Amino acid sequence: MNRTPAVDSQVGPSTSPGWTAERTLPVDLRAGTAARDWLRGIFGSSCRVRDEFLLVVSELLGNCAEHGGDGKVSLSVVHGRNRVWGRLVHHSPPIGKPVLRGDVTAQTELLLAAAGPAVPVEDLAEDGRGLFVVQMLCAEYEHVSGPGSSVTEWAMADCGCFR
Ligand SMILES: [Zn+2]
Repeated sequence: MNRTPAVDSQVGPSTSPGWTAERTLPVDLRAGTAARDWLRGIFGSSCRVRDEFLLVVSELLGNCAEHGGDGKVSLSVVHGRNRVWGRLVHHSPPIGKPVLRGDVTAQTELLLAAAGPAVPVEDLAEDGRGLFVVQMLCAEYEHVSGPGSSVTEWAMADCGCFR
């Protein structure tokens, strides 16, 4: 441990030495490509987890585009000593139809309709595989869904940079 004391007063991972990058992207089918092109220019070519990190980003963005409707994502990347952190916040509009108040039968029907044929099993399996791969690649992975947004945080270790 030979960190320089009192340099980083911010919350979160140390960025000294290293870099941070942040960008807001519209959620569409090109978001993954845009994010990969942007990040490829920022990561050093010697970073051993660069390609895996880009894969995780496009997998997560693809997931947002497929299931989150439209909206925006904020993507931030923190590259510290031998480790890279990512944080993806998906600001999505509320999903689904509003439930009518005061009519229990109508509510039940709406709920059943919402829960019904929604997602084919094959699509679920496809999702499962993508997210499984993401979790296998990451040293840390956490996903929290809220009513208006969801947050995914992940980290990759042993990239060999800034040691
Ligand atoms: Zn690196």
